Amino acid sequence: MERTFSIIKPDAVKAGKAGAITQHLVDGGLRPVAVKMVHLTQKEAEGFYYVHKARPFFGDLVAFMTSGPCIVQVLEGENAIARNRELMGATDSKKAAAGTIRQKFGIDIEKNAVHGSDAPDTAKYEIGFFFSGAELARLGVTIG
Ligand code: ATP
Ligand code: MG
Repeated sequence: MERTFSIIKPDAVKAGKAGAITQHLVDGGLRPVAVKMVHLTQKEAEGFYYVHKARPFFGDLVAFMTSGPCIVQVLEGENAIARNRELMGATDSKKAAAGTIRQKFGIDIEKNAVHGSDAPDTAKYEIGFFFSGAELARLGVTIG
């Protein structure tokens, strides 16, 4: 059993796709164990995406991620990190394989419906960015 971190991004929340995306994740073997809706501030979005701060799209990405509420969640399942990336599909919604979340619910390379951690260390960092140890403990979620 592994845990990963997922965001349903503002484009998908605004379009009313959060329920369908969650169903897709659950059908794919990933169970939400901690969930909340947040509207990121500029500083929070910059902090979350700090690894991309030198990239040309950073400003647009931060503007997009602060454009409306997101749903942030911890997902649990077998090989959850890789499984989530598989279910999400390629970064660019226009190039993502048929049947993937980004192909079905995203718009383009920026407005691509979901985020998913790409490795165990980023999953741990990203879960901790949005959920405190106390919040997780209350839900019975322990992150090694
Ligand atoms: P994520 O980290 O959101 O799960 P990813 O790992 O597939 O997606 P990254 O390369 O980490 O993609 O990029 C982070 C996010 O930045 C993408 O999900 C997308 O919203 C945005 N992004 C990436 N590349 C571009 C680009 N060339 N132009 C505009 N936005 C981009
Ligand atoms: Mg990434």
